[in-house]
Amino acid sequence: VDPVKENYVRKVKNCIFSIAFPTPLKSRVRLVAVSKEVLEDILDLDLSVSETDDFIQLVSGEKIVSGSVPLAHRYGGHQFGIWAGQLGDGRAHLLGVYVNRQGEKWELQLKGSGKTPYSRNGDGRAVLRSSVREFLCSEAMHSLGVPTSRAASLVVSDDEVWRDQFYNGNVVKERGAVVLRVAKSWFRIGSLEILAHYGELDLLRTLLDFIIREHFPSVESTGPNRYVDFFSVVVSETAQLMALWMSVGFAHGVCNTDNFSLLSITIDYGPFGFMEAYNPDFVPNTSDDEGRYKIGNQANIGMFNLIKLLQALNPLLDPRQRQLAAQILEEYLVLYYTRFRELFKAKLGLLGEKNGDDDLIAFLLHLLEETAADFTMTFRQLSEIPQSQLQELTIPQQFWALKVISKHKLFPAWVSQYLLRLKSHMNDTDSERRKRMTTVNPRYVLRNWMAESAVRKAGRNDFSEVRLLQHVLRHPFQKHSAAERAGYSAPTPSWAKDLRVSCSS
Ligand code: AMP
Ligand code: MG
Ligand code: MG
Repeated sequence: VDPVKENYVRKVKNCIFSIAFPTPLKSRVRLVAVSKEVLEDILDLDLSVSETDDFIQLVSGEKIVSGSVPLAHRYGGHQFGIWAGQLGDGRAHLLGVYVNRQGEKWELQLKGSGKTPYSRNGDGRAVLRSSVREFLCSEAMHSLGVPTSRAASLVVSDDEVWRDQFYNGNVVKERGAVVLRVAKSWFRIGSLEILAHYGELDLLRTLLDFIIREHFPSVESTGPNRYVDFFSVVVSETAQLMALWMSVGFAHGVCNTDNFSLLSITIDYGPFGFMEAYNPDFVPNTSDDEGRYKIGNQANIGMFNLIKLLQALNPLLDPRQRQLAAQILEEYLVLYYTRFRELFKAKLGLLGEKNGDDDLIAFLLHLLEETAADFTMTFRQLSEIPQSQLQELTIPQQFWALKVISKHKLFPAWVSQYLLRLKSHMNDTDSERRKRMTTVNPRYVLRNWMAESAVRKAGRNDFSEVRLLQHVLRHPFQKHSAAERAGYSAPTPSWAKDLRVSCSS
């Protein structure tokens, strides 16, 4: 293959990857941030390496490691429920697989590194705004305990990139940025869908066998049933991921099948948002007019996406296996609700099983919804407030989110139900309850206004807030004095009330 000749935008048939080289940024490149954890724990690199010119050249796509053949992945997908045909890595380059000291394999990918055969009408670039958001959020999600792709580095240039932010026809000049992202695998539901859709069944089988061999070792040994067993794992891991997203109030924003990982990790951070006032209809993406991807619909969308995965597997299954797979899919919502209940019980510090647990959770969510109290801080402050103060309903000013929900006339009823439930615990103390709860209820999440504030400063080459947020969000369960000074656990500042995020990135 002559990579130069192959590197033009086109429809590609019968392949999984195309060779595609990054296009270097033209202007000066600056290092915005690096993740020490990713460099040291995943890539066996000393942090000091990130200060070298070599490093900047590698992570901006200017230089390729010797021996690496960069690739763009061909995938398709259902976007907003509709088959969209060929999509693919339109602005991402897979640099290769790194095997670290622990023997783990990690796929390194640049995002924003120029055009590929899959760029369609795009420019192959990513702007600083969305790159800061992706960099911070993937690391933040990891620290919240949510499976996710990771981000190793973020660089920005002065290259002009033009974006229409709100589909109002006004294009705005922004700056091109590149993130080095890392995941065990970047394969998506859309990776299999495109092969099934165009009848490329040999490739479909080859790719699936590869994915199973590399990432689903427990399934491989099951021989002829391995595709059904693979499906079963993806169903349960997807249910788990959707429940985890809900437990931290995360709305992905664009849950298309091309953005759903086969390893059920969170990928492709775009117009995501952390819900502030509790609202199941929360839609982070302003371009999602119908609210298809609203937070309260994510579990159902997971189901939709699994149906699309099963349709892609169908040509490889016999009738009995299809029936089995359909039965597995029927269990999905049960798995979701089971996990949801476990997570929310932990958020309330509940031990053991009691009959009224579901009601207790639903009751609280109902009060949250009616009072529009802050989701993250209500749970956090329930974790911090001494039981005696809750009992007397004397809520100190510092617990501002609890003050909001406590205005509801049924709040005292919920509190007495909750305290009664806590009484059922044997060998538990209030300080132990609070300790348990503060390890699962974060004090800090990446709220839009926080990201926006960091983005604005980064636009002026002041990267201090990106780095502060990165530092704070690495330990989201610990109180942090610089974070408190920055207002990260305070109500959203008034300047940020009307912030919006669009798909454009
Ligand atoms: P997304 O909605 O961000 O997941 O992207 C959907 C598809 O559009 C993927 O195939 C992306 O690679 C592609 N895409 C998004 N932005 C660009 C861009 N600026 N240039 C080229 N391709 C892009
Ligand atoms: Mg995507
Ligand atoms: Mg994207």
